[in-house]
Amino acid sequence: MKRLENKVAIITGSGRGIGRETALLFAQEGARIVVSDIDSAAGEQTATEIRRAGGTAIFVRADVSQRADAQVLADTTVGEFGRIDILVNNAGILRDATLLKMTEEQFDQVIAVNLKGVFNCTQAVAPVMIQQGQGKIINVSSVVALYGNFGQTNYVAAKSGVIGMTKVWARELGRKGICVNAVCPGFISTEMVKSVPEKILSAMKEKVPLGRLGEPKEVAQLFLFLASDESNYINGAVISIDGGITV
Ligand code: NAP
Repeated sequence: MKRLENKVAIITGSGRGIGRETALLFAQEGARIVVSDIDSAAGEQTATEIRRAGGTAIFVRADVSQRADAQVLADTTVGEFGRIDILVNNAGILRDATLLKMTEEQFDQVIAVNLKGVFNCTQAVAPVMIQQGQGKIINVSSVVALYGNFGQTNYVAAKSGVIGMTKVWARELGRKGICVNAVCPGFISTEMVKSVPEKILSAMKEKVPLGRLGEPKEVAQLFLFLASDESNYINGAVISIDGGITV
């Protein structure tokens, strides 16, 4: 028996990086996948890869910062597959600058995608899960929400807010049979991290007790556990996956 047999999963930002690995892994474990991304070419590619490997996947373009897009995402999923078992709120962006240099636009963009995007998608999907009496919501935060980070006022504000919303929804939706958890990745080897200057990256690696970056697949495996029935009593948790950087 596959670990996500008969489940329907939406993964935002799954055109590349951690989201893409998650979509591929969930499909291997038997889930029907709704690949979603703002980038249509990348998203279509992930969905095609899943279908080529014998899985079931559709692509739905959605900019998570747009409430109408989030609603279309939920409605299309129900229209296609009849239910929504898993939502991975993974889409995210970086617009780094120190406090004095950060523009209002940089601040607003990151809040719109990384914080409001999570609210938009969860609000669109939750009524379906409530009606089913079950569901799993995985919110992607970051270790920097736990200890702050130089140059990331906007990102840390959003990712800390994601942890806060996770705790609220664990209470509100837990009684409806829905588990809501937050995951805090450390430094994971994706395009997002490749944009970080080399000097900062090697300084970060030195701080990781395991002495290396994480792989997107390693994060996807934690998401798989949280999406599966193996974690049915885990609700409102904030789980780090960071090679020990927060120790
Ligand atoms: P990534 O490689 O940049 O992938 C993110 C995906 O989300 C991209 O395909 C991106 O499309 C898409 N996206 C951007 N804005 C969007 C929007 N408004 N609506 C829908 N999709 C959108 O990032 P990643 O490294 O895999 O990160 C995934 C998540 O993990 C993010 O929430 C990130 O904050 C979090 N995280 C990552 C790390 C890390 O070290 N990588 C650490 C901690 C937390 P475009 O390519 O068009 O922008």
